[in-house]
Parts: sequence; structure tokens; C-alpha cells
Amino acid sequence: MKRIILFGAPGSGKGTQADALEEKYGYKKIATGDLVRTEIAEKTELGMQFKYISGKGELVPDDVIVRMFKKRLGQKDIKNAYIVDGFPRTLSQAEALSGIEADEEIAVYLKLGDEDLVVKRILSRLTCTQCGAIYRTEGDPPANEVKCTRCGGIAERRSDDTEDVVRRRIHVYREATKPVIRYYKDRGVFHEIDASRTIEEIFKDLEDVLN
Ligand code: AMP
Repeated sequence: MKRIILFGAPGSGKGTQADALEEKYGYKKIATGDLVRTEIAEKTELGMQFKYISGKGELVPDDVIVRMFKKRLGQKDIKNAYIVDGFPRTLSQAEALSGIEADEEIAVYLKLGDEDLVVKRILSRLTCTQCGAIYRTEGDPPANEVKCTRCGGIAERRSDDTEDVVRRRIHVYREATKPVIRYYKDRGVFHEIDASRTIEEIFKDLEDVLN
């Protein structure tokens, strides 16, 4: 099994690039944020806690997210290769992921330094409530929702995609997730891509890294 880890700040384009890889190569995307949103939508007990935590831009506990990730990974549709989006977000999660065997592991860091660009990107995106596909709002005034061309669901603005929460998520990312870069550098599987460019340019570099 090949494991492709995409990480970077909120808004760096991880989800968009994972969608594109899924579409072109059939690799399955596992986005822990989607797993969290599913629990919230289904109003499970965990979902209630997640709603509170993610609504503030904070991270849900490591052991809970690791358990959910493993459960998703164990499902039958995950074969040959998978892309991890939004996980690991802490060193402890990275260590847990390393404990899951993979024949090949590649970690790609989508680097985006400009905080205002991050906020702008996030505030202009719509996320499918069903499959997690990401769309850009276009038009004037921008649409509040669009029909997902992949699954027929509805893509809308995430409730945690507000400026205050996004800035908090960026802060949490710097504190908790940045150390993960060192972890993958030390494992010798680290690649970095400039994520301030267009979706197509980033995707091309990503393909170069993967092939
Ligand atoms: P995302 O869609 O990746 O931005 O995730 C949305 C929210 O889900 C985050 O702000 C966290 O509250 C939670 N979440 C997603 N992935 C993780 C993770 N790996 N560790 C902890 N919390 C997570």
C-alpha cells in the first residue's frame, strides 16, 4: 500500500489537490476533517463534542482522531494507494500513522506563507456536505451553495470557515502541525511545493514528486 500524506496550513489546497489526485489516479482520499464533519452532521455523541471543538478552530483529541482514521482505512474501498488530507496534525498522530504499515510513504508539504491569502482562499470556498469535494465561489455576488458535480450533493460554506475561526486554525496549525515537518524530514520522505500558485501549477509539481 502506498501512502501519500498531504499537509500544510488551512487553505493551502490539500483538499483540492487530493480531489484531483483521486480523480486522475483513483487514489482514495481520507480527509479526517470530512470524518469529523460526518459525525457532526449525524449528530452522534462524538459529533456534539466535535462541533464545539472544531467550531472554535481547535483540534479534536489525538486518540479519537487516530481511531477514526484507522476505522476508515480498514474499509474495503481503500486499496493500493491512499492520500491522507488533514492528518497527521500533531507529532503524536504522525507517530501513530508510522505504526500503520505502508510499502511506500511520501509526505508533501504545500507551503503557503501569506496568511491573508490563506484567509481569502478559505472564505471563497464551498465544501460538499456529502463527499467533501471543494469548489471556489464565483460570480458577483458569490453563490452561497452549488450542486456538487461529483456526487450530486450540496456544496456550501463550512460553518468553521469564518475569518475568526480561520485565524485561530492557522495559529493552531503553527503550534501543533509545524513540528510534523521535521518529523517527515528526518524520515527522508519529505517534499515541499510552493502552494501560492494556481491549482494546475501545484498539481503538476505534485505529479512530478509522485512519479
Ligand atoms: P479540516 O477539514 O481538515 O480543516 O478539519 C476540520 C476540523 O476537524 C479541524 O479544525 C479540527 O477541529 C478537526 N480535525 C480534522 N482533522 C484533525 C486531526 N488530524 N486532528 C485533530 N483534529 C482534526
